[in-house]
Amino acid sequence: MCKILEVILKKEGKKFGMDIKKNDRFRTTIEDMSDQGAGIGKTDGYTWFIKDTVVGDVVEASAMKMKKSYGYGRLIKVVEPSKARVEPRCPVARQCGGCQLQAMSYEEQLKFKENKVYNNLVRIGKIENLRRVEKGDGNGDGEFLPIIGMENPWRYRNKAQFPFGTDKDGKIVTGFFAGRTHAIIPHEDCLLGVEENGEILGILKSFMEQFGIRPYEEETHRGLVRHVLIRKGFYTGELMVCLVINGRKLPKAEELVERLKAVKGMASISYSVNTERTNVIMGEEIVHVYGPGFIMDRIGDVKYRISPLSFYQVNPVQTEKLYETALEFAELTGDEVVWDLYCGIGTISLFLAQRARKVYGVEIIPQAIEDARENGALNGMDNVEFFVGKAEEVLPQWYERNGERADVIVVDPPRKGCDERCLETIVRMGPKRVVYVSCDSATLARDLRYLCDGGYEVRKVRCCDMFGFTVHCETAVLLTRKAW
Ligand code: SAH
Repeated sequence: MCKILEVILKKEGKKFGMDIKKNDRFRTTIEDMSDQGAGIGKTDGYTWFIKDTVVGDVVEASAMKMKKSYGYGRLIKVVEPSKARVEPRCPVARQCGGCQLQAMSYEEQLKFKENKVYNNLVRIGKIENLRRVEKGDGNGDGEFLPIIGMENPWRYRNKAQFPFGTDKDGKIVTGFFAGRTHAIIPHEDCLLGVEENGEILGILKSFMEQFGIRPYEEETHRGLVRHVLIRKGFYTGELMVCLVINGRKLPKAEELVERLKAVKGMASISYSVNTERTNVIMGEEIVHVYGPGFIMDRIGDVKYRISPLSFYQVNPVQTEKLYETALEFAELTGDEVVWDLYCGIGTISLFLAQRARKVYGVEIIPQAIEDARENGALNGMDNVEFFVGKAEEVLPQWYERNGERADVIVVDPPRKGCDERCLETIVRMGPKRVVYVSCDSATLARDLRYLCDGGYEVRKVRCCDMFGFTVHCETAVLLTRKAW
């Protein structure tokens, strides 16, 4: 074939002798991992994303969907396993898709996460002064500290939600929705969840079978039981069960209470009324049938009251480590004025309030602020004040009205990062230290660039793994203001 034709074909993602069509099989070596946890391999310069593979694997895959310069392949078989590959412990890992990294050893997962964050800070954020303390990469004065991994990366989630349905024989099943569909794959023991989940689901199913209580059917909008929410206080051992029902009343509720009370730690049983045709799991109305309506837990020395609708971190053990890191970065002596922006139920605010003169928290969801205030009172902390509103509005308004500077500002925004108006106000207020807690290193990198351009320097970075076997990673960053 002449050279020119070869070049044209190459541009279109095809190459002489390598014209793969849908469902064709091919072999490739996984050279890298995407941010979403798919393995990346090449065939004649064409890039493939293949889920369930691990860097270093040689695999056989089939072509699923192809674009101009890249395509998606489906793993058929691992021809030569990578050293980083482990046998997934969960039998339904591939169907579920919740754990993108089940086939990767935990040690390798930590490396993957740390590298992803480091690379984003360097490439997207152009943060030039980083030095990887453990590996010795880079020579700047911004310390990139080793990731904080979990001692045991299994059964770390304190919250689970299971949908109810029926199998083809009409038997009641619970499990998870397959891929993007609403077909239930029966599976009751997610290895990231607590062991009690299986016991509770067993009790619920036999209770429903015995009293003819039907699971909800999406197509017909009939049937009663939609989901169950199960939560456990890791510190206290207290358990909460909340059934979500398509009706106003749960029949035989007293009988269910008797059965569930047999589970060790059972402290709160309720149901949530959700009669809408919706994908939203919880309804707004909660009816308590046993216990005080909440369970208690603690992170470090701070107590929390958790109701069925409260937000609460799902991995409390690692949350404590992450917030300890944020607190350490804040270098509080007891005399500081601190802002905690995007404060949720005030978890970080209350942590900081243990060592600051005054803490102001800002959060957009009113219900979360109610919880934050209640938690403040519960812990006898009178040096915290919470505001409902957008961080990018509350902070500048406050600063214009009071002119009060802050010593430290902590931010913990959602994935999309901080609004520029928020960053702009931080730069104007000029706190000595900014602690940025992030769950998305790409937007973190973008925001750090803004702060560095505004006169701040990155001093410390530390990742913390809160979600083992998934691609998610939390990061805490300390920035200090350069001398004015
Ligand atoms: N630090 C909190 C969780 C932070 S998650 C905790 O540990 O509990 C991010 C929070 O930011 C969410 O609670 C979300 O409701 C809130 N949020 C989103 N956009 C916001 C905005 N523009 N201003 C203030 N809060 C916002």
